[in-house]
Amino acid sequence: MILKSKSAVVTGSTSGIGLACARAFAKEGANIVLNGFGKPEDIEAARSGIETEFGVKAAYSPADLTKPAEIEGLIRLAEETYGSVDVLVNNAGVQHVSPIEDFPPEKWEQIISLNLSSAFYTMRAAIPGMKQRGWGRIINTASAHSMVASPFKSAYVAAKHGLVGLSKTAALELATHGITVNCISPGYVWTPLVESQIPDTMKARGMTKDEVINEVLLKAQPTKAFVTIDQVAALAVFLASDAASQITGANMAMDGGWTAQ
Ligand code: NAD
Repeated sequence: MILKSKSAVVTGSTSGIGLACARAFAKEGANIVLNGFGKPEDIEAARSGIETEFGVKAAYSPADLTKPAEIEGLIRLAEETYGSVDVLVNNAGVQHVSPIEDFPPEKWEQIISLNLSSAFYTMRAAIPGMKQRGWGRIINTASAHSMVASPFKSAYVAAKHGLVGLSKTAALELATHGITVNCISPGYVWTPLVESQIPDTMKARGMTKDEVINEVLLKAQPTKAFVTIDQVAALAVFLASDAASQITGANMAMDGGWTAQ
């Protein structure tokens, strides 16, 4: 177990990619802090499930990551509960699909603060402890949209490109401290985030659901298949391992060949 007696904070881990990462780290022995929104009974089931299935501790923080003060609280909760934040996964994210001229300013602000700024605030709070211990892994869920754009996703594309720049900067600042900072950039992964943008894409492009899936989503992916949450989590576990100690400042595509085109 490569993360035994370590602790991992995974933002946006009540669902999708984040929950798969949290479970994969727990399987490797890490104590977990879950974060995100959802029905209390579902969150409790995910939290207690991790404890019973993997024999580690799992805590939950309801911090709203668009609010810097609550982000500080999330990191402090992890440090107070487990004594450290060894692995930090900045994963919480939302999407909004709309032409720029109709894009609601409050959606722009929400996406920039959650998909980009929250990673700055979590890192700002967690880095001092990682530096003190001389070890840390920061893994940021970016996207194929950190490398290429799609129309109608202005805030998301801007935030994900920004997240890569932030990660590279942090990687350079932390290179001699035993702390690596990397991005994982999935193509389309079948999660609630993808499912929920289908109605807006249908509206923005005047398409049926099947047309959106085949002509927009999977059109971009040469393999014509969705990435799975467990594949993303497996890469995150690898990036947290000692074998990955010389991978830092990287943006690793897992996109079925999308960005090779
Ligand atoms: P998801 O909707 O399943 O999960 C998003 C998580 O973020 C949930 O736990 C949700 O509760 C949480 N969240 C939302 N707003 C929050 C807030 N204000 N504060 C704290 N948590 C909040 O989505 P997902 O597909 O698993 O996405 C996870 C990450 O992966 C996102 O950053 C997304 O941009 C990225 N991503 C997803 C895909 C994809 O195809 N699904 C592709 C590339 C990148």
